[in-house]
Amino acid sequence: MIHIYILTLFPQIFEGPFSVGLFQKAVERGLVKLDIRNIRDYTHDKHHTTDDYPYGGGAGMVMKPEPLFEAVEAIKSELTEQGIKDPLVVLLSPQGRLFTQDIARELSTNSHLIFICGQYEGVDERVCEHLATDEISIGDYVLTGGELPAMVVVNAVVRLVPGFLGSPDSLLYESHTAGLLEYPQYTRPPVYREQSVPEVLLSGNHAQIAAWRREQSVLRTMKRRPELLAKANLSQKEKEYIKR
Ligand code: SAM
Repeated sequence: MIHIYILTLFPQIFEGPFSVGLFQKAVERGLVKLDIRNIRDYTHDKHHTTDDYPYGGGAGMVMKPEPLFEAVEAIKSELTEQGIKDPLVVLLSPQGRLFTQDIARELSTNSHLIFICGQYEGVDERVCEHLATDEISIGDYVLTGGELPAMVVVNAVVRLVPGFLGSPDSLLYESHTAGLLEYPQYTRPPVYREQSVPEVLLSGNHAQIAAWRREQSVLRTMKRRPELLAKANLSQKEKEYIKR
């Protein structure tokens, strides 16, 4: 079970993606608990102000620190009452460490996670320095807000929670689990527009199928993402093969 808190100015954005398919089932089965909170609920002025002009001038608005600190502190004090201390506080930011499957795995071992979604020009630096325990970027590009990145990160994390996927085997060979890309997948029909499924997959010979898949996985990684091979767990034979 993982409990995820998301602090956002646009809670409605999360309604769609988290209420369909496997995610919805996981919520219904109690594997995931989502708590989407509006940052405006932690303001005290009548306009519910969450942003202000940047000191020193410049374009755009910056998210104020007070509502973000208060929102995180409110969650933390609820958690303390349940005996949970020091939850991770992840700020989505294009300046954060680049999100990978390893980071997803690392985050999925936590029972409680708090995500902060920025907007506008981003958040006051004191949030990065004194409130967030981690900053994560989903790629070297800039989006308008942290909501889509939060969905990406939460999705990748939650599908690693035991029980989320029907078969845990789905995780074994998939891309980025063992440093390799997954082998090609086929389904029926065996021939479609004169394009045939590789014969070995129809052979019923499990050892041959496993060997073919492994070879395809290595080949595909070599062709598409050679830099991944440095971290992959390869046999001596595979290393020599790649060298050749
Ligand atoms: N001015 C900031 C900069 O140059 O680093 C960019 C702010 S961006 C327009 C607004 C918010 O979107 C950020 O605070 C962050 O929460 C989110 N965001 C944008 N791109 C992101 C990315 N690649 N990964 C994670 N979050 C991102």
